[in-house]
Amino acid sequence: MLFAVSECVPFIKSGGLADVAGSLPKELNKLGADVRVILPKYGLIHEKFRSEMKKVKEFTVQLGWRSQYCGIETLEHEGVTFYFVDNEYYFKRDSLYGHYDDGERFAFFNRAVLEFIAETEFYPDVIHCHDWHTGMIPFLLRMEYYKRPGYGLIRSVFTIHNLQFQGIFPPEVLGDLLHIDSRYFKEEQLEFFGNANFMKAALIAADHITTVSPTYKDEIQTEFYGEKLDGILRKRSEDLSGILNGIDHDLYDPEKYPGLAANFGVDSLERRVENKLQVQRDFGLPENENIPVTAMITRLTKQKGLDLVRGVFLEIMATGVQLVVLGTGDPEFEQFFREMSARYPEQCGVYIGFDENLAHQVYAGSDLFLMPSKFEPCGLSQMIAMRYGSIPVVRETGGLNDTVQPYNEFNSEGNGFSFANFNAHDMLFTLERALSFYHEGEKWLKLRKMPWRQTIAGHSLPANTKKYIPISSQGVNRMFSSV
Ligand code: ADP
Repeated sequence: MLFAVSECVPFIKSGGLADVAGSLPKELNKLGADVRVILPKYGLIHEKFRSEMKKVKEFTVQLGWRSQYCGIETLEHEGVTFYFVDNEYYFKRDSLYGHYDDGERFAFFNRAVLEFIAETEFYPDVIHCHDWHTGMIPFLLRMEYYKRPGYGLIRSVFTIHNLQFQGIFPPEVLGDLLHIDSRYFKEEQLEFFGNANFMKAALIAADHITTVSPTYKDEIQTEFYGEKLDGILRKRSEDLSGILNGIDHDLYDPEKYPGLAANFGVDSLERRVENKLQVQRDFGLPENENIPVTAMITRLTKQKGLDLVRGVFLEIMATGVQLVVLGTGDPEFEQFFREMSARYPEQCGVYIGFDENLAHQVYAGSDLFLMPSKFEPCGLSQMIAMRYGSIPVVRETGGLNDTVQPYNEFNSEGNGFSFANFNAHDMLFTLERALSFYHEGEKWLKLRKMPWRQTIAGHSLPANTKKYIPISSQGVNRMFSSV
């Protein structure tokens, strides 16, 4: 099987997509599959990996009148073969996305993946495409010019990691770059409000569609969450599955992760306090183990519910918590948190940027993890938080709904706190409720150990979760049996 994806841990990451693309092939290969991964060779990939890559092929990709160089380089990492598509003009940039020519860059990548197959004679049974960056692959596979020997048996699976980002470009992308006949530019095909839409192309053409949690699968078939593609998703509901992502338990392991102030395990939770003091130091907050630390590690965008946090920020401060925010994104939120940390230097610590090591430290040193998302396809951060003993406070949407079971103080079941409405005060009350247990030592410890024990047992979630569908060989089989 070939995974086509635009980012992948440990080479390059901007969000959870890269985590999944890094961990799932490894697990599938352990089960006996032969999954290989292809991604762009970005200039931002660390030299350590670039120097390990070996060139296997060079060819040109025809994009309309343009003949573009395409090098294929490879390396092995943790039992997985990775291929990198090399073209410096497209991929040697200072950021992954957001360039004026993203349509052309990823049209090139999609064509390069399909040409790579014949060039290297690696004919996968399935191409598993992820998010809009690879959305044209399933569609192109059905075009006349890919009716070539060996291509006919290839099936495509497309996974929606986030329906909000669709890859919408002027219609010229289709004809001028991808040689797609104008008869396909109509509403029931590729046309999307006068533009071309990579995500839509995949939803039409993929043999099977998956998304990253059972709740999100249902949500995206409604108008509210459907991002104007709910109609197609309803039409294809028979071919749509919701399979919950998981986290890599080797990478996210507080007993082993080398960058922590103190490693700790389920029987040495008292050592967490070293991490908490470290976080307070890192964020310039008073060092005091008795003050609850609430963390957010996130892209700073509206999706993540930051409007709610901004709406009741003063009330959050009035609870007496310390809030630490590690994130990067919309300037309005970056500016807001910078201002708040200047205004509340004793209570609000902010680091604007992307820092993997610091993220581990914050997961390991915080008491609560706040994630009030407006929508959340799956969310890995809350799972990582649970793995590190930081208790999640989340909104009941998408994968947050499938992974966080609200705490019930009467029978001590549950692994976090949650609220349903996208409402700032509902979030605040839930945070206050969570904090009310912080000062009840026994209950708090039990709650902290609750998700912990189960993550140690190899599951990120409580055994009693009815909604939970783990990534397992059974889940994977179900996914492919319907292709
Ligand atoms: P999304 O993919 O929507 O951004 P997820 O919760 O699925 O959200 O995954 C986010 C991933 O990115 C997690 O591994 C999280 O720890 C990481 N992350 C997010 N922001 C930062 C940051 N500023 N620094 C380091 N890691 C971050």
